[in-house]
Amino acid sequence: MDDSRNRLLSWCEVDAAALRHNLNAFRSLLGTEAKLLFVVKANAYGHGLREIAGLTPSLGVDALGVHQLDEAAEVRTAGWTGPVLVLGYTPHARLADGLDLGVEFTVYDATTLGALDRLGRARGLSAPCHLKLETGTNRQGIPGEDLDRFLGIFASSPGLRLAGVSTHFANIEDTTDHGFARGQLDCFRALMARVRAAGFTAAVPHAACSAALLVMPETAFGCARIGIGAYGIWPSRETLASHTSRGEDLLRLRPVLAWKASIAQVKTVPAGAFVGYGCTRRTSRASRIAVLPVGYFEGYDRRFSNLAHVLIRGSRAPVLGRVCMDMFMADVTDIPGVEPEDEAVLIGRQGDEEIRVADLAAIAQTIPYEIVSRLSPQLPRIVVNVDQIT
Ligand SMILES: *Cc1c(COP(=O)(O)O)cnc(C)c1O
Repeated sequence: MDDSRNRLLSWCEVDAAALRHNLNAFRSLLGTEAKLLFVVKANAYGHGLREIAGLTPSLGVDALGVHQLDEAAEVRTAGWTGPVLVLGYTPHARLADGLDLGVEFTVYDATTLGALDRLGRARGLSAPCHLKLETGTNRQGIPGEDLDRFLGIFASSPGLRLAGVSTHFANIEDTTDHGFARGQLDCFRALMARVRAAGFTAAVPHAACSAALLVMPETAFGCARIGIGAYGIWPSRETLASHTSRGEDLLRLRPVLAWKASIAQVKTVPAGAFVGYGCTRRTSRASRIAVLPVGYFEGYDRRFSNLAHVLIRGSRAPVLGRVCMDMFMADVTDIPGVEPEDEAVLIGRQGDEEIRVADLAAIAQTIPYEIVSRLSPQLPRIVVNVDQIT
């Protein structure tokens, strides 16, 4: 262990080579025309936005996707000068900041377009906009009946440029039945045809997230917005099953993140002792217990209580009792020789064992996205294998 790590209670390791490998894998699913937009919102899905943004020059991506302007500022500070698409809402009071940062905006309301047009004209430029089209998700987007009105706004607004048209699938990760997604795709195609017919031939159409590209590659169009898969995590079991059933080579994704902690205490408790809050667990034998110095504050979900495992000395140690705010306990009775400051793996590999994000998501009855995106931004992120991509 290097001497910076042994000063830490807990940290995440981010594997630059795995990230590059996954992005290359997604690139191989895209035609030669389509761009790869790498989604780094939610602190780069918990992997550390600053650290991931620092790698972008070596990742071979065409653009970055963020949720909001503060993230855009972060990737600019990290030195990324390429396109940045803001996927979420930008308050009117910050549209000028967005232009200063050189971002592209996701737009779906006329007020925002009016404000951007005025700002663009005042600066003698055309603000790049991606018009979000409603095709069935009913989150962001304009319905088809408003399309002509919005295209009219673009046609008459020199301060605006229609850089893209986009949509987002509602039901692609959660199922192996992609009927709903196909309906959205048909709807998007029809709307795109109207955009083109109105003369906006330069507007790049984009619809695909990771799962869409994995199970319906025809969704790639001009650009795919890839998040979870780039981090080496399958969007869902259903996505893996659908992808596999396509009969093509399985896309081999490598997990990018490992989460580790240093054991804070090892002790023996007698048989019949309660462990942790709520006395939810009682030892059935004299037990060796390791105290881990992270809890739900750091993102180790309380729903892992009594259900998850961590890896210690290459073996699986069950979580014992409830996960606390900043600590939890693991049963190491069957693992000889465990000592304080031994490294425990909460997510990732140790020896022949692995704790996958998907396993933890299943335990917490949630999706892998939530497990990684809720890792505390305060946990240090240590980038490893950088030398393999530069
Ligand atoms: C988050 C997001 C994505 C990325 O989705 P993944 O499933 O993580 O690949 C793509 N598009 C939009 C609009 C998003 O908000």
